[in-house]
Amino acid sequence: MAIEAVAAGGARVVGGVQAIAGVKQLDSVMLWEMIRAQIGGQVGVAGIGGLALGSVPTITPAGTAGVTSSTHVPELLQQFGNGRVPRELLTLIGIGQHRLWGPAAESFIAMRAAAADAGVAISVTDSYRNYDQQVDLAERKGLTINGGLAATPGKSEHGWGLAVDADVDGAGLAWLKANAAEFGWVMPTTREPWHWEFHGET
Ligand SMILES: [Zn+2]
Repeated sequence: MAIEAVAAGGARVVGGVQAIAGVKQLDSVMLWEMIRAQIGGQVGVAGIGGLALGSVPTITPAGTAGVTSSTHVPELLQQFGNGRVPRELLTLIGIGQHRLWGPAAESFIAMRAAAADAGVAISVTDSYRNYDQQVDLAERKGLTINGGLAATPGKSEHGWGLAVDADVDGAGLAWLKANAAEFGWVMPTTREPWHWEFHGET
């Protein structure tokens, strides 16, 4: 387990969660694995506020106010808040600088590779969005509750790093409809066929 190797390199305990000191290079997948290990060990995720990563500033959870209660949103993410997921917990998906929450990123990468094997290209125009970006989008595209195309800031799945806006042609969309569920991805509304969410195993 990665956590042991890191611990030997100088991990310490802060607030019930091991903080990593002296680790300069730690990719987000590894970080996620560590956190998952911590959660698996029934360590309260509230203690994640003590997480310190080399030169990365201490992460402070946004608290639970206004947290949506979507069951597929990991508790850890809900601790930080929608649109306030630390960059260190988001993983590049191999398209520009687009990032998703670790498990969603892993699944997306696998799904995209399977599509490519089938001769289908999948790209994205949007992925994780922080709170300010959602506010900006809502101003430009209008809120869905008003007939627009943007979720209310604080409510978008993009704010959890659990959604992509797919950039696909007709064949790509057909492939997604036929295969995405296998990878834990769903299209919640036919009104937005480009918008796909990672719900994991359901
Ligand atoms: Zn979307």
